[in-house]
Formats: sequence, C-alpha cells, structure tokens
Amino acid sequence: MRTLSGVQSSGRLHIGNYYGAMRQFVQLQDQGEAYYFIANYHALTTVRDPKLALELTRDAALTYLSLGLDPKKAVLFRQSDVKEVVELYWILGTVVPQSNLERAHSYKDKIANNISPDFGLFAYPVLMAADILLYSADAVPVGKDQVQHIEFARDWAVKFNTQYVPGYDPADPEGKERGHSPGILKLPAAHLQESAATVPGIDGRKMSKSYGNTLELFGEEKDLKKRIMSIKTDSTPVEAPKPTQDAPLYDLLKLMLPAAEFADVDATWKAGGKGYGDYKKKLLEAFHTTFGPARQRHAELLADPGEVERILQDGAQRARAEATRLMDQVRRAVGIP
Ligand code: ATP
Ligand code: MG
Repeated sequence: MRTLSGVQSSGRLHIGNYYGAMRQFVQLQDQGEAYYFIANYHALTTVRDPKLALELTRDAALTYLSLGLDPKKAVLFRQSDVKEVVELYWILGTVVPQSNLERAHSYKDKIANNISPDFGLFAYPVLMAADILLYSADAVPVGKDQVQHIEFARDWAVKFNTQYVPGYDPADPEGKERGHSPGILKLPAAHLQESAATVPGIDGRKMSKSYGNTLELFGEEKDLKKRIMSIKTDSTPVEAPKPTQDAPLYDLLKLMLPAAEFADVDATWKAGGKGYGDYKKKLLEAFHTTFGPARQRHAELLADPGEVERILQDGAQRARAEATRLMDQVRRAVGIP
C-alpha cells in the first residue's frame, strides 16, 4: 500500500492539521510506503509575499519532522521540487468537467468566507488530483474538507484511463480480467479519521489557516494562551449545565484529553460544575502535555537548517524518480513527444 498526503504552507500549521491529517501520517509511515509533501504551489493561492512563502515552506518541513515523520521511512518533499506535477495538472485538466470544479465544497466555503476567488483557487482540485495521481497513491489521509477532492481525483483518473488506455474497463480498473488493461492512473481512496474529521477553530468555524482561527502547533506561548482564552463560549452562568452543541471548547477538550480525563470533564460540563475559564486552563495544559516534546524538537531543528534542506533534497530525488516513470506513460498515452 502506498500512502500520500500534503499540507499547504499557507500559514503556520495548527492542531486541526495535526489531528485531522498529520497524526495519521506519522502512524502510516510504518505501514507500507509513504509520501508526504509540502504543498507550496497550492499555498501561492493565499501567500503573495515571496519571503514569507519561503519561510512557511521551511516551517512546514520543520513541523513534519518535529511531529515524528521519519525521513528514513517516509519520502518528505516539496511539491515544487517535482515539476512534472504541473505538466500532469494541465493534461488532466483537459478531461476535467468544469461543472465539477463549480461544485467543489472547499472552493465554495472559501468564497462564503470572503476569500476572493482567482483561477488558482478554482483549479486547486485539479492540481491536488495531479499531486495524488503522479505518485500512484492508494490511500490519502485527509480531513473531511478534502474528501470530495479525493473523489474527484478518482473520477478524473477513470475519465483519463477510459479515454487513453486501450482495453481499460472502469468496472475493472486494475485490469484483472482477461482482455482488460490496468489504468495508467491508479484510483486513490480517502483515509478519514472520523474522530477528528473537522476540528473546530476558536471561533467555532472549521479551524483553518486562512480563517485566522487556529491554535498553532509551534506558536508563541503568550499568543497560544490568548487564543485559548478567547475560544468562543455561550453565556450560560458559571454553575449551570452547559450546552455541548456548537461548543468548540468541549470538542477541543474531547480531542486533546486522554479518555479517562475527558470523562471527568464531560460529567462536570453537563452538571454545570465549573466555569469556562477552568476548562480553558485544562485545554492549555493538555496542549503542553501533548505537544511539549514536539515543540522541543522544533526548536532544535530550527537551529539546523542544513539538515532539513538535505532531507528535502533527498526526498525530492526519490519522489522525482516515481514521477518521471508515470509521466513517461502519460505522455506516450496522449501523444506528447
Ligand atoms: P487553508 O486555510 O490554507 O486551506 P488549512 O488549515 O485548511 O489551510 P490545508 O493545508 O488546506 O490546511 O489542509 C491540510 C490537511 O489538514 C488536509 O488533509 C485537511 O483536510 C486537514 N485539515 C485542515 N483543517 C482541518 C480541520 N479543521 N480539521 C480536520 N482536518 C483539517
Ligand atoms: Mg484547507
């Protein structure tokens, strides 16, 4: 099995990225092959400052490594180090129905949240499909917001194979039956962590770099505290039972506390035993218990940029070998010399 996923370097990475996606990356590196990348082409749809773009790309690499990604087990690389992805993006785009892109949830969500759309954001799912198909990935660990994009990638791979691979039968995509051919593009499947499918941000919307509502994994202590203290709560009096619906604080405690500790919180929350301030302090403690060691590693790696760059170069080389192989087949299939 080959696992592949990416995270955009569109801002500092946050606990939504961790619980929704990156925690699985670290677990899955021990099962089969794993490819993980920093989506720095995608990030250009939000970051327009070149110095910042470079810095955030480096920071995303540090984040992967600090959280326990092991470059001996997984291939870690920058999206932009394998230019073939842009070529596949274009070729794939020629079989993508525009109507699919018009109904993409994440595009519509961003517009609904006042992010002004450009072609890059509109075409984002096509580049994402190219990211996945270029490496013939089987499983793609992602948060819920990305599941539709993986379904698109499957649909477009089928379209491409049907168009360009003689003997391809969509009912037999691996070409197991006699007379059928396997597709050139392999069909990927989303791998969703149900318990953390959508981690809420401090304002209750999906935690997202572009919404400014995150708890950063490696942010400054002062800022982290301020953000936790500003998590949106309702106006239930201190000693009254608190509603659990639409309560980001409750959901975040559930996500971060060990089960036994959360059971206590759950009991007092529903009985109205404590004020929100106490729960927020508890969340801050849980944050430090969970991410303390990773924050330590982050500080160490920050002091060794040469080592991080070496890891990325090595990853790029391994990823490129795979991409070149696939693109030879794709070019031949469509008639590009
Ligand atoms: P942006 O706002 O720039 O889109 P983001 O914070 O949504 O950034 P992405 O780089 O788009 O982060 O997503 C990286 C991975 O993290 C994806 O698999 C995505 O599904 C997952 N993810 C992002 N936010 C959340 C969240 N709030 N809950 C669960 N998973 C999330
Ligand atoms: Mg996103």
